[in-house]
This record gives sequence, C-alpha cells and structure tokens, in this order.
Amino acid sequence: PRGGDESLLEGLNPQQREAVTYRGPALLIVAGAGSGKTRVLTHRIAGLIGSREAWPSQILAITFTNKAASEMRERVEGLLGQASEGMWISTFHSACVRILRREAKQFGFTENFTIYDSGDTRALLKRIIKESEADTFGFTPASAGAKISKLKNELEDYESYARSANRDDPAEQVFLQIFREYTRALRSANAFDFDDLIAQTVYLFRAFPRVAANYQRRFRHILVDEYQDTNHAQYSLIRELTKPVPAHLVAELKADGLYVDGLTEPSGEIPGASLTVVGDSDQSIYAFRGADIRNITEFEHDFPGARVVLLEQNYRSTQNILSAANAVISNNFDRKAKNLWTDSGDGEKIVGYTGYSGHDEAQFVADEIDALRRAGVPYNNMAVFYRTNSQTRALEEIFIRSAVPYRIMGGTKFYERAEIKDAMAYLIAVANPADELAVRRILNTPKRGIGPATVTQLGSFAADNGITFRDALRAASDLGLGPKVTAAITRLSDLLDETAAMMNPDNPAGVKPVPELLTHLLAGSGLLDALRSSRDPQDEARAENVEELVAVTKEFARNNPGGTLTDFLTEVSLVAAADELDDSTGTVSLMTLHTAKGLEFDAVFLTGVEEDLIPHRMSANEPGGLAEERRLFYVGITRARKRLYLSLAMSRAQFGEVNVAMPSRYLQEIPAELIEWRRSPGAANGRDGTMSRALNAKRPGFGSDRAAATAAALSRPKTEWANKVTATVRDNSALELAPGDRVKHVDFGEGRVQDVTGEGAKRIAHVQFDQAGFKKLLIKIAPIEKL
Ligand code: ATP
Ligand code: MG
Repeated sequence: PRGGDESLLEGLNPQQREAVTYRGPALLIVAGAGSGKTRVLTHRIAGLIGSREAWPSQILAITFTNKAASEMRERVEGLLGQASEGMWISTFHSACVRILRREAKQFGFTENFTIYDSGDTRALLKRIIKESEADTFGFTPASAGAKISKLKNELEDYESYARSANRDDPAEQVFLQIFREYTRALRSANAFDFDDLIAQTVYLFRAFPRVAANYQRRFRHILVDEYQDTNHAQYSLIRELTKPVPAHLVAELKADGLYVDGLTEPSGEIPGASLTVVGDSDQSIYAFRGADIRNITEFEHDFPGARVVLLEQNYRSTQNILSAANAVISNNFDRKAKNLWTDSGDGEKIVGYTGYSGHDEAQFVADEIDALRRAGVPYNNMAVFYRTNSQTRALEEIFIRSAVPYRIMGGTKFYERAEIKDAMAYLIAVANPADELAVRRILNTPKRGIGPATVTQLGSFAADNGITFRDALRAASDLGLGPKVTAAITRLSDLLDETAAMMNPDNPAGVKPVPELLTHLLAGSGLLDALRSSRDPQDEARAENVEELVAVTKEFARNNPGGTLTDFLTEVSLVAAADELDDSTGTVSLMTLHTAKGLEFDAVFLTGVEEDLIPHRMSANEPGGLAEERRLFYVGITRARKRLYLSLAMSRAQFGEVNVAMPSRYLQEIPAELIEWRRSPGAANGRDGTMSRALNAKRPGFGSDRAAATAAALSRPKTEWANKVTATVRDNSALELAPGDRVKHVDFGEGRVQDVTGEGAKRIAHVQFDQAGFKKLLIKIAPIEKL
C-alpha cells in the first residue's frame, strides 16, 4: 500500500493505519492520551520516506521537546533501517533558530546572535526598570517580562503595540517605554529572546517572500505533535510555511538554481506543503503562555478539506487508570466527549496516601519506590510529579536520606546558576561581542577592581562615540582611568581577542574546539582559580559546577565534531525541560506536571494533590483556570502505564509558613472504588475530622472556612506532624564519623557506622541500624548524632 511497506502498518489499528496512509493537503488526528498519536506521526514520516514519496529533506516535524525530537528521529531511522540526513525533526524554537541563523542578516542581525533565556531577560528588564521611573507603577522585571512575552506570542511587537496602546493611561505609557528600551537593547546586543525566535521568523517570512518561498518549496510535509499547545505565533509560522509558492517566485527560485521542476504544477506554482497535526484538546496546558485551543478546534475551518481521524484505543494505561482519567476530564464542559478504552485489563487500583506533612508524604513515596524497585521496576520507569518547583525540597531531602537515586528534570537549573552564567558570558562575549549584557557581566567577574563608576564611564563613552560596549573596552587607555583599572580592562579585552583568534578559520594554528576555548578563558580570567581559592564553602561547589561545564563542552565536542562555539551556545540555550531525561541511567525522574507531557512511565507518583497546588492558587480565579488545571491533572494521570499513586499532605510548609492543606477538589471526581487509600484523608486526622469533612463536603462549599481551619490546626498542641514540618534542616557538615562509631538517628534509632564515603558536603555514612537495617545517609543533613 501507499505509505511504505506492510511492516510499517503492522501492529497498528485501522484508524491508526488510515492516519499513516492518508494523502492529502491537511490531516488532523485528534485523540486522547496514550492512543498512539506520536507513534502515528513517526510511522507516517517513515512511510513517506520509505515509499520514496518524499526525501528526508522535505520533512519538517515539530515536537514539544528536543528530547522528543531525538526520540522520533531514532524511531524513524529504526523503522527505515537507515539514517535520514537532512530531515528536520525539532522543536519550534530549534527550527526557528536554524532558519534565523541563516537568514537573520536579512534584517540587521548577524548569524552569531545570542539567545536570551528568561534569566537574561529578567536581568535586562531589571536594568531598564531601574534606569527609568517605571517601578513607581508597580512594574517588576517579572510582570513586564510576562506582558512582553504575551504580546510577542500574539505577534505584537513594540511598534504595532505602540499604535494601539492607550495614550491616556500613564501605566501603559511606562510599559511602552520599557518595551521600547527592551526591544532596542536586544537589537543592539544582536540578541533574540525566546519568544522572538518564533515571532521574528514569522516577520522574516512576511517581509521577504523570496526567503519564505525557499522554505515553502523545501518542506513538502509538515507534521506537528502536541498541536493543542501551539500559540498564535507558532500557528502563524505553520500558516506561512504551508502557503503555495506563486509562479513568479518559482521562476526566481529556479533562476537561483534551486530544485523546482518536479514540484511545479502546470499553473506554474508550487502547491502548499501537506500538513499533519496531532493533538488532544484535553491536554492543552499552556494557555498561560498563549497556547490557543482554538488552533485545534478550528483546524477544519482554517484548512478546508482537511481529513479528521479519531483514535480511541489507549495502549498505555490500565483500565483503572484510564477510568480515573476519563472521570476527571468529563467534568470539563465545552469539550467533545471522547470514548477512550483499553483492552489491557483493570490492573492495580490507584493508591492514595495522605501524609501528615510534605516530609511524611515524601517518605511514603520514597518507601514505595524502594518496594517497587525490589519488585523489579527499574528506577527509570518511575516518575514523581508535582505542580510547583517548591515541592521538590521535601522530596529531595527524603530521597537523599533514603538513598533513592533521582534526577530533577526541567529546569535549565544548571545553566541558571550564577557561576555557570559567568562562564557562559565569557563564551558569549567571544561569540557575539555586541552582547552588552554578557560583556558587562564578566567585566568585574572575578573581581578586578572595576567599579560601577568605571562601568558607567565605559557605557557613556560607547554611547557618545557610537561604538559598542565591547569596543569601549578596547579603547580603555583613552578614557583617563587609573592605570590599574586600565590594565585590568585591557587584559580582559586581550583575552577575549585571543580567544576569538583561536576560532578564526584563518588562524594558521587551526580552529580550536569549544573545550579549549573555554579552558583558555577560565585560565586567563582567573574565574576558576578565584572559586577554588575562596574560603566560602559554597565556592567549592561552584568550582565543581564550572568544571562540569567544561565536561559539557567536551561531550559536545565529541558528539559534534567540528561544532562551533555558536553551535554550542545554541544547543545550551535550547536545552528544554525534558531533555535531561536519560533512559540509560537508573534514576527516578522528578518533574513538574507541565514537563511530563507526552512522556510515559510504569509507575507515576502524583504528589501534592491539594487545593492551592492543583488547582493552583493563582489559576483558581482566572477565567478558564479551573478547567486548565483539570487538564493538567489529566495529563499527570495519563502518564502512568501500570501504577498510579495520588498523594497529599495535611499540612504543607511553603514560603516559611505551615498551612493546613485541603484535598484537591479533583480527587472527588475519581470514583471511590478506583482508589485504595493506604491512609485516607479522614483517617490521617486523628483529632477533629476536619480533613474528612472537607473531602466529603459538596463542592460549592468545599474548602470553605480554610482560614479558621488553619488557625485551629496551628493552635493545637504541637503534634508529631507539626514537629516534623517545623523542624529545620540540620547541618551536620562538621560531624566526624568513622567506621565503628555508634550513632543515633531520629527515626531509625541506634546503629553502627560501617563505612564513610564521599567528601565534603557529599559524605555518606553507611550505617547498620540495630532495628531498622542498613541505610546510606547523607551526613550533612541526616538527623543523627554520634554516641
Ligand atoms: P500523549 O497524548 O500522551 O502524547 P499519544 O497519543 O502520543 O499520547 P503514544 O505515546 O504515541 O500516544 O502511544 C502511547 C503508547 O502506546 C506508546 O508506548 C506506544 O508505543 C503504544 N502504542 C500506540 N499504538 C499502539 C499499537 N497499535 N499497538 C501497540 N502499542 C501501541
Ligand atoms: Mg504524544
């Protein structure tokens, strides 16, 4: 059949087959979680290439994370049994970076532009707000940043927004001023923020039809996963890419020697690319970033003649898990009812647990992970989800104490650390000297005696002479600064020039790979030495992190022979949340519910199933907020293949306060017979039944009078749970332990140290407890004392 050889269709159900083999301008696959949408996309790509209907270079597939992209590429190549050079499988952001690197010179940027992440954006806005009067109107870097991001996702830039803004509103005027300065600063730094990557590509295509025509010609098949979470800018990008190429541009492409003959219709135009999108409106969870569910509900209207395929069989989860998911999501009105089923059997019941505190809940999770591990479930097939990052603290503490190996996904956390940003700023200053933010950052890091007055002087010198801040450093000797300061600036400037020369292809010594550039910068600047020789104990960890960055560049160089510094910086800026997932390592994955989208695990722990967390406090009052939070809960539930745990705590410590926590309203939406409570919300409260009453209350009054409940709970005599949550984390760093020592642990009682491994903050005691058995404890935080 069309769509490649029969083996590609093997093991697919009839609807999936149809979705793989349909040929036409537009195809929409809508289906619930775990029904094989991503799998169908993969088979479809393999079918197009395998049957020679398309070259790999004619495929553009968009996935939600870089990790999903590399998985899809591997699967396609696995199905085809060959590598597929030239196929673009990437996120929206990565695809746009590739396009912009090639084309940005069309509108005044250079190909080595920097990509600003949210931390850079915040730093820039902070400076802008500080220098203006804006803070009087309550603008913070975060609030202004969110507003700018929202506008860019709507394809509003400063100019267009300025035209429509309310001239009489002073706050609006202040915002406009911030937006203008921000736009100007990015441009003069030769930098794009994350939202720009998409928006600027759309502007590029609209302003330069000839450039757009080249991509419209090239990509014949465009496929988009997780289409329900596209925002307006992304939608517009897809629209631009799927437009036909008019005859006069085809003629121009041809004149430039590009391949067009086999693509051109008798009318002289090249028809628009065929578009396949897959999605699930029930999993739309990015409205706060401008995702528009209408992109999927109105697909048939936007792309007339589109074929729609529905998938209904779920291949991921057991019936119990699926029934819970179906029951929850059916409470969202205004949705098309779906009938998701599975033939994999009921499976285990969902396990519920109510902890006294976040720590108690975390201990339950750790114990259960241990039990599953002993029952043969590998660590990397288990995941722990939470709504907010602040919930990880308790989980991490307990996991470290219980020696559960874990990784936190999401987060470009590593790259957000100050010392990593410093080291990266050196690299950026070399790759993109126009990036003022980076140059300013390294100017006095490590300390060189360059004070704020000098920085201001350099800044105005640059402004007065119409040169970049970087060039002002070169001219330092003309500024009449003190000799010491001048020498320090000149040394830095020379170091940057030397390093730039090391990557110049004209250099007779050859182009040096990224790790050498970085080590040269670290050595020349003294950054690493300053950390190593510092007396601040935290600097030890910081030095390790910087060394880890060197290791990252080495890995990059291994995987990308000939990779340039700009390639490396691009890769780092695009490390998306789920990308750190590594199947080969035996670690439990911890991540937010948002990061979990599209993934699956044998066992899933959904923690903090409480009011104020899910639904989140901030969302409850927003229009549509409760429905969106319910979809997020649905996404979490549907990640589980075999086992699902729903846990909560009676009290939760957050922002230094301990509050009574109420069970999430969504818990009530799951039929009671599907959940086996190990400790139910009612039983957990041995005192006054507040929790069980809350859970049983009808929804309208649900969780009411919580202030009174909090007050009552906190005025009670300190119970065990209250002691636990208010106990501060101890620091045992200085505790000397040696094999043979007797110790006493708060929970495990007495035991004997068998071994001590690791160093510094990572010392681990191996203890045989008299009653509790063998445990590994991180000495720094373990609640132990030496006897
Ligand atoms: P989500 O909405 O969560 O993104 P999805 O619809 O993309 O889910 P997939 O991830 O493609 O679903 O598939 C879910 C699981 O079911 C995967 O493990 C996949 O390999 C498996 N699967 C899909 N279709 C079939 C099939 N016909 N036979 C066997 N397994 C299948
Ligand atoms: Mg999927």
